[in-house]
Amino acid sequence: MRGIAKSIVLILLILAGTLAYFLYPPEPRAVTFPGGKRFAFSIVDDTDMATLERVKPLYELLHRYGFRTTKTVWVLESNEPSHPPNRGDTLQDPAYRAFILDLKKRGFEIALHGVRGGSSQRQDIIDGLKEFNGILGEYPKIHINHSLNRDNVYWGELRWSFAPFQWGYGLIGKHKFFGQDSASAHFWGDLVKQHVRYVNQFTYGDINLLTINPSMPYRLSDKPYVNYWFPTADGDNLDWFDELLRPENLDRLEREGGVCLVYTHMGAGSFNKDGGPHPRFEARLKDLASRNGWFAPASEILDYLREQPGWTPDLSFREEVRLEILFLWNAILRGLLPAPIHS
Ligand SMILES: [Zn+2]
Repeated sequence: MRGIAKSIVLILLILAGTLAYFLYPPEPRAVTFPGGKRFAFSIVDDTDMATLERVKPLYELLHRYGFRTTKTVWVLESNEPSHPPNRGDTLQDPAYRAFILDLKKRGFEIALHGVRGGSSQRQDIIDGLKEFNGILGEYPKIHINHSLNRDNVYWGELRWSFAPFQWGYGLIGKHKFFGQDSASAHFWGDLVKQHVRYVNQFTYGDINLLTINPSMPYRLSDKPYVNYWFPTADGDNLDWFDELLRPENLDRLEREGGVCLVYTHMGAGSFNKDGGPHPRFEARLKDLASRNGWFAPASEILDYLREQPGWTPDLSFREEVRLEILFLWNAILRGLLPAPIHS
């Protein structure tokens, strides 16, 4: 009996030691920003359910407060509109296309959310990328995987690098993704490598991504078709956005000289009220704009981080595993906790 108890204690000690080793925070990275700015901020807007009517007033507001953020788009109409996140305007709609071109002219970044809401085969992806380039005059620097699109790159179990997580997810995950599989009809990894610079890997509840991932953006040797990965901060809907950007967090971002790239769905409905921007959205933007931040598109901030002293492209194994544990933890918390309460 005593032998069993001893073994359990020993196993628990080894587990605790391993966890402590991986979770011990890496050296923080001190970065100075252009023009003496104190922190860097952007939004990466996932285009799910976005219509011109909903997002136009939101982008007018961002522009008015001096923000230049990153908006993802779909080039082609959805081929699986029964899945609600696949719905939304695309570059096939002339009025929406004109709006997107106008955003680009105003300094916003236009990125890709896959070529459409719904799975695509290689020829559609080639055509979609060509059309993106034809309309916007350049290929997207950022791609964000979308929901259940089978052409997503390194998604599902392959999103993970640490073998126990990959296996574990493989056991419970129902969907498979093939963007990186050269034997699949959905393959376009080579085009991602050729045209796209950054792909979002994980999302976190912390406003300062430099404390989560000091070496951002980063390469992963087991995911060669993606040039660089980057993390985002979780502002999925207005409640989370509001919570993430509350004044205490913005104070911290400023004090720590941090980087915040908020991942959100601005067009999914929660950011609007009575057809216009929700006052809570405006209140957060107003507070942010009053601070000495560098407000630039996500890829401009990531390019800049790569040029700073001390940056190395490859993640250490410890940092890689740490990122995965923290993401898992964030996902568990998001699943268990109700949305924050607001007055
Ligand atoms: Zn999406």
